[in-house]
Amino acid sequence: MADNIILECTECGDRSYLSKKNKRKHPDRLSLKKYCPVERHTTLHRETK
Ligand SMILES: [Zn+2]
Repeated sequence: MADNIILECTECGDRSYLSKKNKRKHPDRLSLKKYCPVERHTTLHRETK
């Protein structure tokens, strides 16, 4: 029952990561620290549609 989500860099808007999560268990937006290949350092990535 997992849905695909896209993780977007909060600093440059790059969408480099696909992830999965159960939207019923986690209805709030997911935020993860990920490496951004555009900026070449770790930034906060937030779930987007
Ligand atoms: Zn970025």
